[in-house]
Amino acid sequence: MASAYDVVVLGGGPAGLATALSLRSLSDCSILVADAGEQKRERAGESAPPDLLAPLRRLQLEANFLAAGHMHSPGSAVRWGREQVGYNDHLLNPMGPSWRLNRPVFDAMLVEAALKQGISVQWNTRYLRAKANEAGFSLTLAERAGLEREVQARWVVDATGPLARFANDLGIKKRTDDQLFGLAGFSTVQSGNMKKQVLVESTPEGWWYAAYLPDHRIIHMFVTDAPQLRQLKSAGIEGWAALLSRTQLLGQALEGVQLTPPEFHTFPIYSSLLEQTFGEHWLAVGDAAATYDPIASQGLYKAVSDGVMAGRVLAQGHEQELEQYDAGVKERYARYFEQRCGLYGQERRWVEADFWRNRQVVGLL
Ligand SMILES: Cc1cc2nc3c(=O)[nH]c(=O)nc-3n(C[C@H](O)[C@H](O)[C@H](O)COP(=O)(O)OP(=O)(O)OC[C@H]3O[C@@H](n4cnc5c(N)ncnc54)[C@H](O)[C@@H]3O)c2cc1C
Repeated sequence: MASAYDVVVLGGGPAGLATALSLRSLSDCSILVADAGEQKRERAGESAPPDLLAPLRRLQLEANFLAAGHMHSPGSAVRWGREQVGYNDHLLNPMGPSWRLNRPVFDAMLVEAALKQGISVQWNTRYLRAKANEAGFSLTLAERAGLEREVQARWVVDATGPLARFANDLGIKKRTDDQLFGLAGFSTVQSGNMKKQVLVESTPEGWWYAAYLPDHRIIHMFVTDAPQLRQLKSAGIEGWAALLSRTQLLGQALEGVQLTPPEFHTFPIYSSLLEQTFGEHWLAVGDAAATYDPIASQGLYKAVSDGVMAGRVLAQGHEQELEQYDAGVKERYARYFEQRCGLYGQERRWVEADFWRNRQVVGLL
């Protein structure tokens, strides 16, 4: 690893890699992407709107994406706010069908493109702290063995996800409008047929999401508040199975499907916005700048499209473009949050249950 770069991107998720690729397409500057985790891991998110193709085209990755075997999503079946199931047929969308991504393949595509473009990508490399200086920032990064090293960056991109580690260290506040948790179980389908639609179902304690994944696995995730999550975790797999058995849409869809025992992951789910998405020699992108509830299915599209914009802004480096970028992130977040409040507000069947009562209050803020 060199010790000085024009741009250091902290975080190698879709937003960080899209920013690096977009910048590289416009500039020869030296770029390091440093990520705290392993390259291969279970990442959250696989449903994406058809619009995802547009920013991928800007990164010249449309053909790679289309050849990669991602699935078209045949829409969703939703039981929310009423007993009847509603169907949303994405095949009728003029932009084309939605996507069900094979996440490991999607992530690998971005990494390979970055490496091909001469961008350095370092895994197991955690950003620890930063010190501003005349030339930008001196960053302390820790490698797997705990070895610390200093790297000089003219510009820093905070793409560290919802906690915006770098911006937080600079004292920039992230306003959290709501926080939930998703307990996701990943299982392999051993026999039987699972519906290919995305399934969403609200229950008094929260809501469920299930989707068939392109590699014969399924994700089923329960989204709830912290106290309910604690209870569920202490009840173990039996508690999970009991809650799942009380669903109707998911319960029916999973009938007759033989699954391996789920591998569980817990994900915090925020609706949150960074008060300022840029400053002297730094910029935040993706979930670091604005985090959306996955009910919106917008996070991946936002990560890649904001990354494309952030790369362009960095290549130009003008104050005016930075301000426009900041205004755009905030405007889109405001639109998202209003729609999200409207959606949670549609569920009136259990307004006395803690989960929904909390969301109705949030919706009125
Ligand atoms: C449970 C769940 C389900 C979701 N489902 C969907 C979906 O179906 N469709 C959709 O569009 N969106 C979905 N989302 C949202 C989507 O996953 C995110 O919006 C998207 O991943 C944001 O990308 P990102 O690159 O900004 O952040 P991330 O993907 O979170 O990447 C951030 C990266 O920063 C790294 N990092 C963190 N701290 C440090 C540090 N100190 N130093 C260096 N690196 C660091 C992390 O290792 C990580 O790789 C879901 C989110 C959750 C939580």
